[in-house]
Amino acid sequence: MATVEATETANEDRPQTLTAFDRCDSCGAQAYMRVTMASGGELLFCAHHGNKNRDKINAPGTVWYDESYRLSGGQG
Ligand SMILES: [Zn+2]
Repeated sequence: MATVEATETANEDRPQTLTAFDRCDSCGAQAYMRVTMASGGELLFCAHHGNKNRDKINAPGTVWYDESYRLSGGQG
């Protein structure tokens, strides 16, 4: 399992920041976590489902982009 903060990645021309248009794949709430699989696929999760699935999705090469800190009012 690897977790990255907002490290710079030039592979994509879109910003990494998650927006209100990004929706949790499990429940449709606003997504605060993006999971990039080693295969190149992506999953989006709200904070709740991100934490719930974090133990399941821990394959080597999986990258978690976590913006759930934005929910806690700036802490961390
Ligand atoms: Zn969810």
